[in-house]
Formats: sequence, structure tokens, C-alpha cells
Amino acid sequence: MARRILSGYWRNRLNTSNTPAHIEDDVVVSMDYTLTVDNEVIDTSEGNEPIQFLQGHGNIIPGLERAMYGMAAGDRKEVVIEAADGYGELDPEAFAEVSRDEFPPQIPMEVGIELQIKDQSGDIMDARIDAVNEETVRLDFNHPLAGKQLNFSIQVVSLRQPSEEELEHGHVHMPGHAH
Ligand code: ZN
Repeated sequence: MARRILSGYWRNRLNTSNTPAHIEDDVVVSMDYTLTVDNEVIDTSEGNEPIQFLQGHGNIIPGLERAMYGMAAGDRKEVVIEAADGYGELDPEAFAEVSRDEFPPQIPMEVGIELQIKDQSGDIMDARIDAVNEETVRLDFNHPLAGKQLNFSIQVVSLRQPSEEELEHGHVHMPGHAH
């Protein structure tokens, strides 16, 4: 018994999963990475799940996102990102001097100590003690990685299409974390 073949419905079964072959906009990328700054590993996915992000939606820093285009699952790359394409240049305006008298006694007055400060409008800002002077303490409000060259060692683990909802939201939804 021969079956009639419906014209116009030929599909390659191997492609039904529709897995993207290369990274382009609107592809969900699963990636292992190690970030080295000043020859020191400061962040890595090693020992954890790979990170996932939606390419082309600014989920990761711009310099890294640009370097991802065209990569396939299994590809490795070393990506050097200058400060301007990473966490920005050091802003010389983002420092403040406070008098030692105003400095709260419960926080150690030492260079490198990280603290949070509420500004006049009630917003909480992260800062670090940059210098302790005779009469003042200088606070640095720059991102800790501002002005730094970032060295990423990356490996693409897998690629997939986003769900409609992920595409609409512009980010990846992890199982059990709908938002
Ligand atoms: Zn969402």
C-alpha cells in the first residue's frame, strides 16, 4: 500500500531539534569561562554549571558578547577585553573624601575595605577605601574592575534556541526561576 505524499511537507528529521550551529543574535549560549585580571583568576565557572545567556541582548559585557559571534559548541577562545569594553575606564570623579570623624567606628579604617553607603536619595552604593589620610578617608565608588584589562578563557558548551518567553524578556530562564 503506497501512501500519498503530501507535497510541501518534506522535513529533515535530523534538523527538527533546530539547534543553532553558530552563535548569532537570539541564540542561548551555555559557556564555561575563567576570568583573569592582573594575572589573578578572579572568577570562573569551573566546578559549577556553565553560565547561560541570550546573545545580542547585553546579558554579558559588550566586549565579550562581540567576541562570541560565529562560535560553535566546543569552540574555545582567549578573549582580551580592554577596560572601555569591559567595566569602563576609571572615573576620576567617582571618589569622595570624608573626614575621619564622620567615619563610622564599626567599619575598619583600612585601604581595600569594601563598604556600602546610602546617599541622600536613599540609594545604596558600593565603595572601597582607597586611602586613609591624616584627617580624611578617601572612598572609591568605581566598579572594582573599572580600568582593568579582562582576560577571558572561554569554551562554548552548547547552543539552543530560546523559548518565546525568553526572547520576549531578553534573558534566559533557568528551570524553576520564571521571572
Ligand atoms: Zn524573564
